Amino acid sequence: MSDRIIRGVGVSPGVAIAPAITIRWAFPEVPDRTVAPSELEHEIHRLHLAVDAVSLELEALRERALQRAGPEEARIFDAQMMMARDPDVLAGVETLIRKNHLAAETAYEFKALELRNTWQGARSAMMRDRVADLAAIQLRTIGHLLGTGTEEAWLSEITEQVVLVAHELSPGLTVQFDRDLVVGLISEEGTRTSHAAILAHSLGIPAVMGVPGALERIREGAMVMLDGQSGLIIVDPTPDEFDAARVQSVRRHKLELQLEGIASERAITPDGMHIVLQGNVDLPDEVDTAVRHGAEGVGLLRTEFLLMGRTTLPTEDDQTEYYRRIGAAFPGQPVIVRSYDLGGDKFPVAFDTVAEANPMLGWRSIRVCLDRPEIFRPQLRAILRAAADRDIHLMLPMVVSLEEVEQSSAMLAEEAEALRTAGIRGASEVPVGVMVETPAAVRLAPELARCCAFLSVGSNDLTQYTLALDRGNARLADRFSSLHPAIVRQLHDVVQAAASAGIPASVCGEMASDPLATVLLIGLGYHRLSVAPPSIPLVKWVVRNMPVGPAREAADAALLATSTREIEAILRETLGRYIDLRLVDPSLALPRPAAGTTLPRSQ
Ligand code: PEP
Ligand code: MG
Repeated sequence: MSDRIIRGVGVSPGVAIAPAITIRWAFPEVPDRTVAPSELEHEIHRLHLAVDAVSLELEALRERALQRAGPEEARIFDAQMMMARDPDVLAGVETLIRKNHLAAETAYEFKALELRNTWQGARSAMMRDRVADLAAIQLRTIGHLLGTGTEEAWLSEITEQVVLVAHELSPGLTVQFDRDLVVGLISEEGTRTSHAAILAHSLGIPAVMGVPGALERIREGAMVMLDGQSGLIIVDPTPDEFDAARVQSVRRHKLELQLEGIASERAITPDGMHIVLQGNVDLPDEVDTAVRHGAEGVGLLRTEFLLMGRTTLPTEDDQTEYYRRIGAAFPGQPVIVRSYDLGGDKFPVAFDTVAEANPMLGWRSIRVCLDRPEIFRPQLRAILRAAADRDIHLMLPMVVSLEEVEQSSAMLAEEAEALRTAGIRGASEVPVGVMVETPAAVRLAPELARCCAFLSVGSNDLTQYTLALDRGNARLADRFSSLHPAIVRQLHDVVQAAASAGIPASVCGEMASDPLATVLLIGLGYHRLSVAPPSIPLVKWVVRNMPVGPAREAADAALLATSTREIEAILRETLGRYIDLRLVDPSLALPRPAAGTTLPRSQ
C-alpha cells in the first residue's frame, strides 16, 4: 500500500482538501519548585485564581459551543468545568503544597500526571476519549499558573484554508475552529465518541481520528485530502485523485441531502421488510443525533459513562433520573439499558481494583455486578423505577452461563419486590435480554433464548473472543474483522436460536454500522440493528435499497465461504447491484488503485 494512502476512523463526514498544518503541543516543562512555609497560603491562593480563570474560559467556550453547535455540545463544557473544579483533585494539590512545600504549579502538575496515568492506564476507548478533556483542562490550568497562556493562542495565525493534523484534539480547541479556514481535521488519538469528534461533526468539519503516526506520515505543508465518512486520507493527491475526490465530494453531498430527506422515514427494504434501526448511546450528547436520525429507540445504552471520572459511584436517584431522561427522548420506544460493563478495558477512576494479567479475560462485566451487589442492586432499582413510566429493558453483558442470567433475574425480582414493599413507584418487572458476545453464549444460545426476552449480539467482543484478537490493539486492526467465517456462522446460530424460541435477536456491535455487514445481517434474518447514531442514515439508506431476497442468497453463500476475503467479495458484489459502492468506500473511487493491492478496512 502506498505511504500516501492512510486509513483512520471517519468521525465527521465530508471531503476536505487543503495543505496540512501540524500541531505538536505538549505539556510545558514545569520546574520542580519548592517554597518557604510563609508562602504556602499564597500558593494555594494562586491555585484557586488559576482554577477560577480556567472556569471563566470554559464558560466562554460553553457559550461559543451553544451558539455554534447546540445545547448538548455546550454540556461538554459543563463536564469540563466539573473536572476543572473537582474538589478531590484540588484537595490533593493543596495537601501536596502544604505537606511538601511545593509551588502551586509543581503540585498541580504532580497530581495531574497521576490522574492522567490512571485514566490512560484504563486502556478503555471511553476513558481515552475523556483523557483528552482532562489533559486540555490541566494544560489550561498549568498555563495560568506558569503564565504561558492557553492552547488556542496560535489559532489567529491561521489565515488560509488548512487541514489540521494533531496528536489529539481537545473540545475547547475544536469549538474555536473557523470552519472556513480549518476545513479538515486529522488526529492520532480519538474515536467517534471523543468530544472533539462530536463537536467536529456538529460544526460540520470533516474529520478522521485514530490515525497512528499521522504526525510522522503527514509533513507540514503537504496537500492532504481526507474523507471523514470512510476515514480515507491521501497525502499529495495526484491530479487524477484530486479530480476523483471532487467528484466524490459532489456525489457525497448529493447522498447527504438524500439521507437528510429520509431521516424521518423508517428503514424498510424495497420488498417491504421493516428493519428496526436503533441507536447505541454511550454519552447523553448522542441522544439528539439518534432522535434526529429517526432511531426507533436505543438498542444499547452503555452505562459506564455514569462512572466516568467520578470518585464516588452514582446514586440510585442519579441513575433513575438518567434512564428517565433517555426514555423521555424516545416516547413509546424501547430503551435497552445495559448493566455496567466494567472491567476489561473499562474501569472507572473511582473503582478500587487490582491489576490483572489478562483484564479482558478477568473480573469484568456481569462478574463484577454479581460479585458486588452493592453496585448492581442500585442499578437494577433505578432501571425498575425508570421503567414505571417508560419502556426500559435490561441487558446483561459478557454472559457465559445460564446461572448468570438466573441470578441477575432473581436480584431484579427481589429489588422489584423491595420497591413495592417500600411503596416506591417502579415497574414490577422489565424484559431482560442477554448480550451474546462470547463463544460460550453462542453455544448456549438455544437455552439462553428460552430464559430471556431477547438476544443481542455484541460483535465487537464476539470477534475479539472468537478470533483471540485484542480489539484495542492497533497492530491487529487489519486482522480484526467481524466478517470472518467463524463469526458469520455464529451470527447464523444466534438468530436461529432466537427464532426457535420466538424472541427477537439484534446486533449492537460496530459491525451493524458497516454497509456490507448490513447486507449479511438482513440476509441472515436479523430485523433489528443498533448502531452509533451518526451511522443511522447510511445504514437506513442501505436497507432502503437492498431487497431481502438477494441478501438471503448472499448470506447463504457467506455461510459456505471459508475466508473473510471471500465473504467480503460476496457482499460487495451483492450490494454493488443496488447502490454505488463508491459512496460507501471512496477507495473504490480512486482513479488508479495500485494493481493487486486492496486497502484494509478500517475498524
Ligand atoms: C460489543 O462488544 O460488540 C458491544 C456492543 O459492547 P462494547 O463495545 O461496549 O463492549
Ligand atoms: Mg462488549
